[in-house]
Amino acid sequence: MSIKVSSVSKAYNTQKALNNISFSAEKGQIIGFLGPNGAGKSTMMKILTGYIKPNEGSVLVDEIDVLQHPLDAQKLIGYLPEHNPLYSDMYVREYLQFQAAIYKVDKSNIEICIEKVGLSAEAHKKINKLSKGYQQRVGLAAAILHNPKILILDEPTTGLDPNQLVEIRALIKDLGKDKTVLFSTHIMQEVEAVCDRVIIIKKGELIIDKKIAELQTNSQQVIKVIFNTNVEEVLINQLKNLVSAIYLNQNTWKLTFNFQEDMRSEIFDFAQKNNLKILELSSENKTLESLFTELTN
Ligand code: ADP
Repeated sequence: MSIKVSSVSKAYNTQKALNNISFSAEKGQIIGFLGPNGAGKSTMMKILTGYIKPNEGSVLVDEIDVLQHPLDAQKLIGYLPEHNPLYSDMYVREYLQFQAAIYKVDKSNIEICIEKVGLSAEAHKKINKLSKGYQQRVGLAAAILHNPKILILDEPTTGLDPNQLVEIRALIKDLGKDKTVLFSTHIMQEVEAVCDRVIIIKKGELIIDKKIAELQTNSQQVIKVIFNTNVEEVLINQLKNLVSAIYLNQNTWKLTFNFQEDMRSEIFDFAQKNNLKILELSSENKTLESLFTELTN
C-alpha cells in the first residue's frame, strides 16, 4: 500500500500553507511528519485523507486519486485528527459501535480493535472518565475499525504524560507492523523512537526526507577535551578529520570532526604521542533534536 504526493500546494486565501510538496511512502513504513507549529502538517494530512482539496498537485493512495475519489481512498485510510474529536458522553464500546454503524463496518471488528489498542479493561467506561492516554486509544481504535492499510495520525501524543507517551508510541509501532503509518509531531525524539523515516516541513516547504539512520550518520562529531596543560593550536590542527577546533577556556577545547568512527581514541593517542595528559574527554554529538532545531530555526 503506497502513498504518492506530487507537487501539492495549498493556500488559505492569501496565506500559503503548503508549497510544492512531493513525497511517497511505501508499505510497512512508519514515517514521522515533523515540523514546528504552523508548518503545514495538519493541512497536508487533511489533503491526504480527502477532507480538504489542494490548490495544485495530486495525491494517490494505492493508485486511487484521493481528490477524484475521496470515498474510495478513505476506505484504505484510518485517520486520527488533531485533538482527537470523540463523543465523550458515550461509553467506549457504545462509541465504537456507533462509529462502526455510520461507516458500515462489520461490528465483529470492534472487539478485535478494543483488544489491539489495549482498551479491554476500560471498554465499559464513559469516554470522559478515561485518562488522556486511554482516550487516545479510543481514537486509535476508531481509526482502525475498518482495518485500513494506511494510518494518518495527527499529533497523537500531544498532551500525554511520560508513561502514556511511551505506551502510545509502542502502540503506534505495533500498528506499523502491517500498516503504512504517517504521524505528525513536533518532537524529534519521538520520531527517533518510533519511525524508520522522517519528513520535515517548515513554513509549508519540505526540507528533509530521509531515513533516520541517514540523518544520524550525517551528523558531525563534537568532542570536548580538557588537557593538563596549554596546547598550541598548530598542534591541535594535526588531528585527523578535524573540521574545527575552538578553545573554550583553561586548556579546554571543543573539537568537531567530520568522521563517523568515535574520535576519542584518536585524541587519546594524540595526547600520548605529544606527552599530554587528558583530564576529561566527552562526546557532545549533535542529537537529532539539535539537528531539528538547527534545520527549522
Ligand atoms: P501545523 O499542523 O504544522 O501546525 P497547519 O497545517 O495547521 O500547521 O497550518 C499551516 C498554516 O496554515 C498556519 O499558518 C495556519 O495558521 C494556517 N491555517 C491552517 N488552517 C487554516 C484555515 N482553515 N484557515 C486559514 N488558515 C489556516
